[in-house]
Amino acid sequence: MDIDRRQFVLGALAASCAAVEPAGAEHAAPVFIGDMHSHLFFFGNNTPAKKPLGRSMAAGNATLVAWSLVGDVPWLRITGKGIKQKGQPRRGEAIAWFEDDLARIKQHIADENLKLALTPADVDKALAGEPHVVLTVEGATFVEDNTAPLAHAYELGVRSVQLVHYIENPLGDFQTEAPQYDGLTDLGRQVIEECNRLGMLVDLAHCTDIAARQALEVATQPLVWSHSSVTRTRQPNWKMPVWQARQLSLATAKLIAEKGGVVGVWPMRADVGATPESYAQRVWELGEWLGDDHVAFGTDMNAISRPAIASYADLQKVVRYWQKAGFPGESIHKLAIGNFARVLKTAMSARQA
Ligand SMILES: [Zn+2]
Repeated sequence: MDIDRRQFVLGALAASCAAVEPAGAEHAAPVFIGDMHSHLFFFGNNTPAKKPLGRSMAAGNATLVAWSLVGDVPWLRITGKGIKQKGQPRRGEAIAWFEDDLARIKQHIADENLKLALTPADVDKALAGEPHVVLTVEGATFVEDNTAPLAHAYELGVRSVQLVHYIENPLGDFQTEAPQYDGLTDLGRQVIEECNRLGMLVDLAHCTDIAARQALEVATQPLVWSHSSVTRTRQPNWKMPVWQARQLSLATAKLIAEKGGVVGVWPMRADVGATPESYAQRVWELGEWLGDDHVAFGTDMNAISRPAIASYADLQKVVRYWQKAGFPGESIHKLAIGNFARVLKTAMSARQA
């Protein structure tokens, strides 16, 4: 099966800012960049041909980038109120879409001479400056009604699984529609246990607050919330504007941190402001709330309209902002790449298969 990609392109929100890659961004001692959540094949007009991943990563010294396959694209549409479900996959369609899109993603990675991060040793190489891509899936729709497809995904190179996204799936509730399961389902819990056993990092982004808390009870390994932000004042719910519905409560973010996990901050302009500097402030602030071991970048690259961070070169501006502000180099390293690397290695190392 296939989708009409042109329709998505035409229907996309306003085009993202063109990446502006400043010339001559030399660094005496480079700070390498990790990104817990990015896209290349999703909505918008940033096609691989226009924006090849190797060049994007090199322009900002990004060496550990999670490329997220969107597991429910064929069943989504963009509306004035955000992304909504337009249909339900028939049996076999979600795994077919997953395999098809994953093949295209891996082809682009191979064309770009980039390597996959498959083992803790690969993550160490990324930390040392060799670019690696982590294959992740946003919305585990492909599992359908049992956990067996997860081992298949692992064999294909996937190392992180985000439980839910924008369509109904049998794992649990997501943030932007009325909840129907009061959190996770039994299958959702089994998926977490199986990911832990296989050595795949579980990503709670898009889960409702209750689902996230239930996941933390089940998981034997640290979890991530790869992209959005944390609110101290609101209790996010599905009736709010999308970016507010998508936030994480501070109390739940702290539970993720207590379990050794990491929260990624997105560059959503309505939320974090319009510039790399305002984003830098928000990321640093979250580090103060949760501790500097528990925060990372989660750019949602190529899926956010007019983001504060439009390229990995922009994330180097964030690093320079922190350096100029006099923040400790060790903390900068943790936020820039170290925390993502640590939590990914922990999940991979727990493999019992
Ligand atoms: Zn997302």
